[in-house]
Amino acid sequence: MRVDVSTGLMVGVKQVLSPFFDERPAGVVPDLIVLHGISLPPGEFGGPWIARLFTGNLPAEAHPEFRERAALKVSTHLLVRRDGAVEQFVSFNDRAWHAGKSAWQGREACNDYSIGIECEGTDELPYEPAQYQTLRALLPMLLEAYAIPRERIVGHSDIAPGRKTDPGPSFDWSRVR
Ligand SMILES: [Zn+2]
Repeated sequence: MRVDVSTGLMVGVKQVLSPFFDERPAGVVPDLIVLHGISLPPGEFGGPWIARLFTGNLPAEAHPEFRERAALKVSTHLLVRRDGAVEQFVSFNDRAWHAGKSAWQGREACNDYSIGIECEGTDELPYEPAQYQTLRALLPMLLEAYAIPRERIVGHSDIAPGRKTDPGPSFDWSRVR
């Protein structure tokens, strides 16, 4: 795995094209990393549904939990599966739609200037050692490629408090910081 800053792609990982992205504002570069947790259906792992959500192909009728989510236009730059495998949906050069209404240290609209990393998991169940292993490889590469200070790795719950709880109390920050 390595970051190609010209394309904004993580070389050596599976690339999945999401339609849910647009340009970052002019002159804005990635300056924050936002970690998330996601599972679909909630609490279940390993299915095709997360990738289908991020590509606009989640079938509303396949599960009661999908009904409201199927119409969402959301994405992420990277997804870290339970086994530590990484998939990329949006180039780091582009704005992925992962944070929603958000702010960090007074600066709003975190999608504009952040890289989103979804980890397959829940707020309650421990994340897998393989996921931490992947993050410990990934995060230093991203910090270096974009000259992001290491204290600017935050959780979705940090930038949208009261609205979002992921990656949740189950995420062990001491293993990535
Ligand atoms: Zn999130």
